[in-house]
Amino acid sequence: MEGKLWDYLLSKSSREGKINSVSIEITRDCPFNCLHCYKTKSPAYISEPVFFRIIKQAEDAGATSISFNGGEPFSHYNIIPFTEEVVKKGFFLTILTNGFNLELPETLISHNALRFQISIYGSDDKTSEFITGVPESFSRVMKNILRIRDLGGEVSVTVSALETPENEPWNVISFLEKEEIPWNLTDVISTSENGDGAHLIYRPDENFLMKILAVAGPMYFKELNVSSDCKVNSTAACGAGVSSLAVNTSGDVFPCLVFQQKLGNILSENLKTILESKKLAEFRESNILPEKCRTCNLYNFCSRCPGTVRYDLGQGNVVNPENCRIAAIKNKFLVYSEGK
Ligand code: SF4
Ligand code: SF4
Repeated sequence: MEGKLWDYLLSKSSREGKINSVSIEITRDCPFNCLHCYKTKSPAYISEPVFFRIIKQAEDAGATSISFNGGEPFSHYNIIPFTEEVVKKGFFLTILTNGFNLELPETLISHNALRFQISIYGSDDKTSEFITGVPESFSRVMKNILRIRDLGGEVSVTVSALETPENEPWNVISFLEKEEIPWNLTDVISTSENGDGAHLIYRPDENFLMKILAVAGPMYFKELNVSSDCKVNSTAACGAGVSSLAVNTSGDVFPCLVFQQKLGNILSENLKTILESKKLAEFRESNILPEKCRTCNLYNFCSRCPGTVRYDLGQGNVVNPENCRIAAIKNKFLVYSEGK
């Protein structure tokens, strides 16, 4: 999100005690077995009563957008009625999906209140299967991305910077650029929520990231809104628990699905009372940017997420050297390309 708008929404939500968005964990199930996934997969599916209760409470709390997360939202048997309900209520809906199954009627796919955010892994079927464990995952996902676009739907693609054998994400970015499909890059690979870090060997090294940046460069840095004026206007580390809340398949409420610090459960409380709760106030006080980040000249290059910092280091309000390493590579790339 553009920096100034982000700061504005954070302070507005905080001032008015409202949230902009609610993330819903539709299921913890997924057809993929991605080697780097931070989640522990399980056959947990949100029930209809929990789902409809969340939507009602999101409305009462003044939220304007909803996102479906997983696991893989399209693994839920009720994905069509859930999607219909959210757009019917006038929310803006983002479905975060691996794009493998896209079983929605065409009228919904092209609905102007719906946006797909699709993560793509690998740069062909072989490299994708190495990551997802599923044959033909690349070609099928790519076909669905183009299908949404051709139907007039809104889609953006998240490209992963995983440095797995023969993976060439720069080719995927070139293709997306040619097709004028918006994309962003996930450059920080974190430890899983269960503490597993075997996949960290696939974190991109400098050479690999430089190759991605060489293709992504101009558009990527424009999107990052990088300027020489590095000013941090808010001490909040991010919008978790400020502009957004998250609810899992059991109705437990968290500041964010990546930051699972339980604030309550929507079956016994509601989002409005949770917004005014002491627990949330305490979380907000603790989820602040470390002092060093507030004056860091790499801040605008940094993909720091306190939730994943917590997975890596056990607490979220500290500096993660992995974030600094990636930010320094991006800075080096920009300095180098501007000097050419
Ligand atoms: S580069 Fe390091 S110190 Fe700078 S903002 Fe990111 S995490 Fe903080
Ligand atoms: S914890 Fe991470 S994913 Fe969640 S809102 Fe903050 S930055 Fe975003």
